[in-house]
Amino acid sequence: MTVTAPASPTAVAALESELTALLGERNVSSELRVRERVSVDGARMSPIISELLPLGVAELVAFPTSAELAGQAVAAAVRHGVPITPRGKGTGNYGQGIPMAGGLVLDLSRARAVVEVTDGLLTAEAGTPMVTCERAAQATGQQLWMYPSTVQSSLGGFLAGGSGGTGSIVHGTNDAGFVAALDVVLADGSGELVHVEGEEAQHFVHNYGTAGIIARATVRLEPLQEWRGFYASFPDFRGAQSVLRALGALSPTPRLISADTPEITAALPEDPAFPAGRASVRGILEAGTVGAATELVEAAGGRLEDVREGRRCPCR
Ligand SMILES: Cc1cc2nc3c(=O)[nH]c(=O)nc-3n(C[C@H](O)[C@H](O)[C@H](O)COP(=O)(O)OP(=O)(O)OC[C@H]3O[C@@H](n4cnc5c(N)ncnc54)[C@H](O)[C@@H]3O)c2cc1C
Repeated sequence: MTVTAPASPTAVAALESELTALLGERNVSSELRVRERVSVDGARMSPIISELLPLGVAELVAFPTSAELAGQAVAAAVRHGVPITPRGKGTGNYGQGIPMAGGLVLDLSRARAVVEVTDGLLTAEAGTPMVTCERAAQATGQQLWMYPSTVQSSLGGFLAGGSGGTGSIVHGTNDAGFVAALDVVLADGSGELVHVEGEEAQHFVHNYGTAGIIARATVRLEPLQEWRGFYASFPDFRGAQSVLRALGALSPTPRLISADTPEITAALPEDPAFPAGRASVRGILEAGTVGAATELVEAAGGRLEDVREGRRCPCR
């Protein structure tokens, strides 16, 4: 959000009273333990950022339980001049969710209703986990165009702070048509949810909430396909790399293809499909293409390790 100057303690205290009346005691906290927990994200994965922490600590945390309450909470913070940092699941891994000016962390993880699934579209509140969106789509014979490997992360956080993932091989990044419409809250103090569609909605994608906070989103679905997790290995990374384009050109197109060096593979959770000292190639392949993929791997000097049922991402 765009209010960046620190707020006065009086303003924060007044906001706490107002938010407690609005959201209930259970959904507002000024406890240090809670403030610290929401003041860092996956940035801890970076040794460079880790050395700089803490880069800011929230003075107050609010957990609105619906899109409408999120709008009213934003309006209250704007009125009191308190900076706002929106938060989903806090898995962004370069510090995008750190409240560097203190103020209010607006944690949207309790606003998690799937509102509607229609032919080709899913509408859900910003805090809905991506995996919940995918399951709701699957229940209607559809699948999301894309989701990140952090499947428990939130829809709003993925749209505002992420870029792409499983499915991007077909559909590109999340600012390339995945978003059909958004309900956003602006820093104008009105608290209204502004409905934006098409091109207008893209201004709010991948910009970390700086243009407005996403309260609800409508994203695109496609017909459900039958997926398999595909695991192969190669003596070295060069061999693994040599087969990636050919795997990506299979038809129907895979949902994901990725490769890792033996060193990185060794850092993944232990799994018989990751034999020691070998480079790994993993994919989410349409079931009918597994035979052709196996032939490609073997012709390039690799070995099939496993084929698993289901649609979970085998990349991490
Ligand atoms: C191991 C690992 C793997 C990852 N893999 C992928 C991947 O495959 N693809 C990918 O794109 N990313 C990936 N990420 C990064 C991150 O996990 C994802 O982008 C995730 O979807 C972010 O969602 P979140 O709910 O955790 O967002 P948060 O981390 O909570 O927020 C991300 C950013 O968006 C802002 N924000 C949060 N909610 C809203 C909202 N409702 N409105 C406006 N702004 C908001 C926050 O202020 C922050 O700037 C990965 C991270 C890790 C640690």
